[in-house]
Amino acid sequence: MIVLGHQNPDCDSLCSAIGLASLFNKMGKTATPALQGEPNPEALFLLEQSGLPQPEIRTEVAGEEIFIVDYSDWGQGTADMKKATILGIVDHHKLGDITTSTPLECWIWPVGCSATIVYNMYKFNNQVPDAPVAKMMMGAIISDTVNFQGPTTTDIDKVAANELAEIAGVDDIEAFAAAQFEAKSDIASVPAAELILRDQKVFEMAGDKLAIGQLELTSLDTALSKKSDMLAEMGVLQAEKGYHSTIVLLTDINKLDTVAIIISEDEDKVAKALNSTVVDHTFDLPGVVSRKKQIIPFLQAAFEAE
Ligand code: MG
Ligand code: MG
Ligand code: MG
Repeated sequence: MIVLGHQNPDCDSLCSAIGLASLFNKMGKTATPALQGEPNPEALFLLEQSGLPQPEIRTEVAGEEIFIVDYSDWGQGTADMKKATILGIVDHHKLGDITTSTPLECWIWPVGCSATIVYNMYKFNNQVPDAPVAKMMMGAIISDTVNFQGPTTTDIDKVAANELAEIAGVDDIEAFAAAQFEAKSDIASVPAAELILRDQKVFEMAGDKLAIGQLELTSLDTALSKKSDMLAEMGVLQAEKGYHSTIVLLTDINKLDTVAIIISEDEDKVAKALNSTVVDHTFDLPGVVSRKKQIIPFLQAAFEAE
């Protein structure tokens, strides 16, 4: 069995795949974690901290048995995923469009991180993760909940992260989170074409496709200095893929605010749905850090209202 994270993998996609595959191994089932692309710098930091090897990259799964983590949409899977047997889903997003022809195991909870759910699967099965795996899962929860500051954070996430820290032997979660966030904010040498795809997801809304990436940073200065380069690359992508909008959310994880940059067929419609106004391909989203909770529902409502 392959445990497969989503496209443009984030920390959760990596750490939950590793955590779940390891749980299955403990229970005597053969399972391998896999990613659909290169890990991002924050994920590489967690691999380095835990000493675990980087999982293999898989973009073809036809004929395989798979368990998917951190998504439930066909669009975030491999192009051939309909030819695989989906044994199960672990996710914390809105329910996607995946259906199956055979029964499957679903663990979909409204919590801050898929790794929180995976940890509860360990508990359900009376298992304890190995220390390096616990460290990865703790890191995923720190990442997805923005160190427990984001609006998707629940008490279940906090309990899981604290227990995982103890198993991993991490005494100071704050210090760990600070180092982790420094790693993900180091974007000075990352080309604009790569930055705009980081953590990007494509959402279909009333027939239109909106590609929305997110950079979570300890300061927006470097990202804003690359704004014109990013807008140029976003324009290329937009034309190539036929998106309605290409958006990159620049989220300040200290101030808990977001500045969005946008290329769009109708930028005013997008900004208005989020109570903002576009000036020079840019709009402010004060107090916004969560794409899934503070952005997508409002865009979906605006697009589907027509
Ligand atoms: Mg994710
Ligand atoms: Mg997640
Ligand atoms: Mg995220």
